[in-house]
Amino acid sequence: MDDRDERDQKDPENSLNHTGETKETEEKKEYEDVCFICRRPESKAGKMFHLPNRICICDDCMHKTMDAVSQYDYQGMLNNPALYRMLNSRFDSREKGDSPEEKDSGENKGFPNISFINLADLTNDGIPKKQKIRKKTGEQKAKPLLDLKSIPAPHKIKEQLDQYVIGQEYAKKVISVAVYNHYKRVATGTMDEIEIEKSNILMIGPTGCGKTYLVKTLARLLDVPLAIADATSLTEAGYIGDDIESVVSKLLAAADNDVEKAEQGIIFIDEIDKIAKKKNTTSRDVSGESVQQGMLKLLEGAEVEVPVGANSKNAMVPLATVNTRNILFICGGAFPDLEEIIRQRLRKQTSIGFNAELRDKWDKEKNILSKVTVEDLRNFGMIPEFIGRLPVICTLEGLNRDMMVRILKEPRNAILKQYQKLLELDEVKLDFEDGALEAIAEKAMKKDTGARALRSIIEEFMLDIMYEIPKDDNIGRVTITRAYVEGTGGPVIDIRSNGYALGDMEKLNAIEKKGI
Ligand code: ADP
Repeated sequence: MDDRDERDQKDPENSLNHTGETKETEEKKEYEDVCFICRRPESKAGKMFHLPNRICICDDCMHKTMDAVSQYDYQGMLNNPALYRMLNSRFDSREKGDSPEEKDSGENKGFPNISFINLADLTNDGIPKKQKIRKKTGEQKAKPLLDLKSIPAPHKIKEQLDQYVIGQEYAKKVISVAVYNHYKRVATGTMDEIEIEKSNILMIGPTGCGKTYLVKTLARLLDVPLAIADATSLTEAGYIGDDIESVVSKLLAAADNDVEKAEQGIIFIDEIDKIAKKKNTTSRDVSGESVQQGMLKLLEGAEVEVPVGANSKNAMVPLATVNTRNILFICGGAFPDLEEIIRQRLRKQTSIGFNAELRDKWDKEKNILSKVTVEDLRNFGMIPEFIGRLPVICTLEGLNRDMMVRILKEPRNAILKQYQKLLELDEVKLDFEDGALEAIAEKAMKKDTGARALRSIIEEFMLDIMYEIPKDDNIGRVTITRAYVEGTGGPVIDIRSNGYALGDMEKLNAIEKKGI
């Protein structure tokens, strides 16, 4: 029995198995192994080679590395006769029984100037500490592909969107129908004679009116992977910036590298107006028109090769082929000068004939974006081929004060509800007067960043409340008043009367009131 066997018998807990791991870790292993090189998990890359220091390498990468090493012919050394002689003499001497230690010293040590990496030298620092590793689930059920019956009807989709997104009725309706049709098309595959065309969507609306939020909610409700990309970071391939295909790579990552799942996902490209054709430019428009050109084939449906688990293609990253035919593309943008373009067109139309006196009617029209046509988008700088591939155009309205108030309190995860929940954990009831909500909405309207401003305004004045309340156990209720929001007064604080047990929220109504 050799040394190792002896040690194993003495200490079975720490003995090494064939994969180089202790039995203990093997039993408790509940996370997948991840390849040290390509970062793919075991479920994607297959069985791993286990090296010391808990390094795992997948079969593909191990083979690639071996191939690379065996083909590596440093300055023609593999065909160098002198080197051969040297190696042969060394081999002969071993054959004759010379001890290898004697010959290993001096200039006979391998190829000069080449050292192979000894993976055992890598310390634990080299091991990725923080990365998303999927937990192993007992039995992985094969996910059924989309089935026609399971796709919710448009009114059901809209009903669910209503719980989160306030207003934007028209946009919600358009999107529900477009998504329903899209997934019907995906579920049926290519139809015999009538091939249903893809219904990519273009969303136009001012900033902070809920474009991204709508898409995020939609993806969550449908349980499909979603990638959100920013058109401003995209450039034509070969230039500094992200390649256009990187958006598909993001989607693949969102689908846990499951190509089949990714192929039925949604890609949202925000700030699409930033890739409008640059006007009066003599240089090559690498981040404008060229990006639109480059996106054409993605929008329509093409096979693209994207790196798995990395942002850029390189030799060591495995590539996956993703077909974008069934991916729903939603593009969104604020299109800032579009309103003026629409107005000009409408003015021109109304200045002819009997309607001439209505010319300035359009200047006052608030929801002018809803009158957008393909022609206007072309004038804005979108190329016709690009607009042609986004057949569903929907516009979102800018938010008014009443909508802001509703956004504060109505959605399922409304900001007010979040704060109320936080304070409820301290057994304090948080109330807002109607006037206070209106004051918050008015302040937000002035900032011109849509509903995004609401949160920052609330955070500002809630800071003091969140800081002070936990100090005093006697506080039972806080009411935020308009004066407090406007900075001219304070909130109303209600004290728990002595007879009540902490946490008895129902009885708080009978609490004595005390203003500060
Ligand atoms: P954008 O239109 O610029 O993409 P977002 O969708 O990112 O704006 O909106 C920012 C935030 O404002 C969202 O996270 C959401 O909480 C809130 N919000 C905006 N519009 C609405 C809306 N119509 N209903 C509910 N919340 C909204």
